[in-house]
Amino acid sequence: MRNTVFVADSIFGAPGKRAVLATGSRISTLLADEDIRSYTGPGVDVVDIGGVVYPGFTDAHSHPSLGADLMRGVDLSSVDSLDGLRCTLEAQRRRLRAGEWLLGWGLEYSLWSDGEPTSEVIDDLTTEVPIVLQLFDCHALLVNREASRVARIADMPTFPSGAHAVLDASGVPTGLILEEQAMDYVRAVIPRESETARIARLADLLMQMAASGLTGVHVMDALPGSADAYDALESAGSLPLRLKLYPWFTPSMSDAGTDPLTLGSAAGRLWSHHGVKLFLDGTIDNGTAWLGSPDELGESRASIWRDTDAFAAVVTELASAGIGTATHAIGDAAIAWAAETIGRARALYPDVTHRIEHLEVTTDAVIDAVRRSGSIASMQPTHCTHFVAADHTDNWSRRLGASRSRGAWRLGSIARSGIPLAMGSDFPIAPFAPLDIMADSRLRRRVGTTHTPIGPHEALSAREAIDAFTSGPARAAGTQTHEGRVAAGFLCDLTILEADIERASADDLPSVGVRATVVDGRLAYAGPRG
Ligand SMILES: [Zn+2]
Repeated sequence: MRNTVFVADSIFGAPGKRAVLATGSRISTLLADEDIRSYTGPGVDVVDIGGVVYPGFTDAHSHPSLGADLMRGVDLSSVDSLDGLRCTLEAQRRRLRAGEWLLGWGLEYSLWSDGEPTSEVIDDLTTEVPIVLQLFDCHALLVNREASRVARIADMPTFPSGAHAVLDASGVPTGLILEEQAMDYVRAVIPRESETARIARLADLLMQMAASGLTGVHVMDALPGSADAYDALESAGSLPLRLKLYPWFTPSMSDAGTDPLTLGSAAGRLWSHHGVKLFLDGTIDNGTAWLGSPDELGESRASIWRDTDAFAAVVTELASAGIGTATHAIGDAAIAWAAETIGRARALYPDVTHRIEHLEVTTDAVIDAVRRSGSIASMQPTHCTHFVAADHTDNWSRRLGASRSRGAWRLGSIARSGIPLAMGSDFPIAPFAPLDIMADSRLRRRVGTTHTPIGPHEALSAREAIDAFTSGPARAAGTQTHEGRVAAGFLCDLTILEADIERASADDLPSVGVRATVVDGRLAYAGPRG
């Protein structure tokens, strides 16, 4: 078996040690300075990295293959003016081959300072090439006149969900397409790309994730073809992350008689089907969450399961087969029912791990119910810091009203109540960089801004934030006996940083360099040496 010594300056949680000896994929021992020489020699690789070694950072909730699919075309996320947008698109147009569409993603609404985006600024760039640009929140597209024509926007049906193409005062499409079904109507006519191009983009995204310090991702979906793509990347030696997949089981799959035990079990070395993703509600923003009492518009009243006992039966059936669950529960009533269900399943099958995703709004009683149930909390602090404002003027807070909004993303209360806490991004809904997410969880505001903190008493300590990206995700996956720590016998997944982030101020975290990541005992990413 391969032996590798990774030499650093220090190791988080192991004072006095500064090197990790990996034998194959596992850590066999940690070494102090004076021991390093006796372990190096023929047959041992020495990788001198320096910096501070942490257990590998794991994003406990992400959708990389969905994100990669949405990232077709040119990256517009750093474009900051309409002139800049036109220049970028013009340059891209010149690179296109005959018949190709001009696609882009990451477009900011704020480029239109005086109202909603419209196609006016892109219509005169070309009359021949269809242009389809995705807004950064993934809830809207902006299309030019040629794309409108090809996609027959004028003939778009009415969708019960309210998804639609925006029209101007005289009934002409403005180019803005809102929400999933309307966006899918447009996407259906975009020429498909080759599987090779799709996989290459996914590979690129996974490498960006590795470069941000991640060694693992809990993938909260198993889209058609995504397992094959991960498999292809692994065979090609270009899978830099450990991936745990949670395929969905929805109420409509239950109605259709799908057996939740047959959702997929394929696995490679670094990727596997690990649990099942369930949903008890939708979102507060859309009025589809399950709250104890309705929101200010009278919405968010019920679970998306007509029969919530049927949901409980699915959790128990999965547990009986040893399969853990991850349940999307945003509203307080949804979280309480998830806890109740998990408590019952754990009474029968105590060794199976169940987690609750999001927990956006909770009372003390709900937090206590989650703790008693033995559930793990999986939360995304940047949903709070990016999309909610301390003065309650945002859509989420207006829906809930000021008093309930104070129960927003109670990370501190949850962590300090003893509930194991895992953090994640929910990429592509929010960015994936783990150090930025840790910073926001400590600051309760978006790092790099001077926004007023939202419920500052719910801030995590530096240590709690690190745990929520290391030991927390291991607890959430039920793999805490061999993942999430830098210790003998554990899998050798490491994140090596320039600086000690337990001492660094939260505002400085985004500028802390990632020296390297190690996955399964091998160097997965090596950063530029500073
Ligand atoms: Zn998600």
